[in-house]
Amino acid sequence: MDLEGALDLIVEVPDFPEPGVLFRDLAPLFAHAEGFATVVNALAETIEPDTELLAAVEARGFMLASAVGYARGLGVVLVRKPGKLPLVAQRIDYALEYGTASLELPAGVAGPGARVGVVDDVLATGGTVDATCQLLERAGAEVAGISVVMELAALDGRAALSGRKIRSLLVA
Ligand code: 5GP
Repeated sequence: MDLEGALDLIVEVPDFPEPGVLFRDLAPLFAHAEGFATVVNALAETIEPDTELLAAVEARGFMLASAVGYARGLGVVLVRKPGKLPLVAQRIDYALEYGTASLELPAGVAGPGARVGVVDDVLATGGTVDATCQLLERAGAEVAGISVVMELAALDGRAALSGRKIRSLLVA
């Protein structure tokens, strides 16, 4: 299966999670053996050569980062929602379209100077990836690049991440 065919497995779901939002559902892609492998291999090629470690936000980011990490011989840092990590290095509170959210970085895994690649499924407003990058940098790590399957151009996540290297397999 080629990359275009694999990305065609992403389904558009209107009015989820709320009216007016067009949600891109990657579940059919993740469930398709060839499609998933094709996307993981393509995403693995977007990882900057000097990357030492990957970071991902739960939950779809975990799936992608673990597969990409395996393909590239890299470990994965699991950035989590509050209350999940026993030992927390850093916490960040950030704004969502409606309300706020928080993320935590585990202690002792992304130390000073580490070159970390951030992996996620969809880049929308950029708030989630920006918060992840800030967490890593507060811990002294460096963000090597950002790799996503899909970027929603209308929400201009690139503006929130200006100056960072962003690679996406699909811009919609
Ligand atoms: P942002 O913080 O860039 O606005 O939103 C990105 C985060 O929300 C990502 O972690 C992503 O998983 C999730 N997200 C936002 N919109 C979508 C969407 O249409 N489809 C999927 N699968 N995830 C989305």
